[in-house]
Amino acid sequence: LLEPSDFLSATQVRLTGRRQRHVLEVHQAQAGQQLTVGLLNGQIGKGLVTRLDETQLELEVSLTTDAPPALPLTLILALPRPKMLRRTLQHACTLGVSRIVLVNAVRVEKSFWQTPFLQEQAIHEQLVLGLEQARATQLPEVLLRKRFKPFVEDELPALCAGSQCLVAHPYTEQACPAADERPVTLAVGPEGGFVPYEVDKLMEAGFSPVHLGPRILRVETAVPVLISKLFY
Ligand code: SAM
Repeated sequence: LLEPSDFLSATQVRLTGRRQRHVLEVHQAQAGQQLTVGLLNGQIGKGLVTRLDETQLELEVSLTTDAPPALPLTLILALPRPKMLRRTLQHACTLGVSRIVLVNAVRVEKSFWQTPFLQEQAIHEQLVLGLEQARATQLPEVLLRKRFKPFVEDELPALCAGSQCLVAHPYTEQACPAADERPVTLAVGPEGGFVPYEVDKLMEAGFSPVHLGPRILRVETAVPVLISKLFY
């Protein structure tokens, strides 16, 4: 995925660092080879490798095709532990979520909010990795909300207005359905699950609890399974 700062001219791009290594190691690229490239929040197309050495790579690019659109899906995710956060962000991005709200919950360990992986650049890196996997370009919006109650009472109603609102909660009556014609707002709990108070607050805000069957899934597994059931 290219960023505006990679462009030397309208069609010429220079990559260094992780993306240069990725092209060298994963694609084993050579001068003259064509690669699929995309512009962050833009089109995808072809990149012809024009110059390549151990530290940098130059491409002649032509971006022509619309990238796959993001899903009309807001994911409200109780903040998982850092390792799981990174993988969950990547999966959610690969599958096309358009907004992610990382929220606090009773069973979120307070130390999770101190992780460097919550810094803007670190989140951006995980999102880009997820997008690159999918050959998608649309970055989701990411919001951090450290106080559950004010978020659910004051902000969530506007955020989820007009959408199908679901909270994934094991052992409830209703199975997770396919998305209907409305956008979806989906809440996923922490490793220990939402406490009853939190489920009640979400239900007051119009959320329906849904289950994924009798197996309890890790957050990083539950998120892609839920998105698949809803949209794929
Ligand atoms: N012991 C916790 C409970 O009973 O809620 C399990 C939490 S699970 C590891 C983390 C989150 O993933 C849950 O809060 C829920 O949002 C989602 N999840 C995992 N498995 C699920 C299932 N079978 N049905 C519905 N949601 C599930």
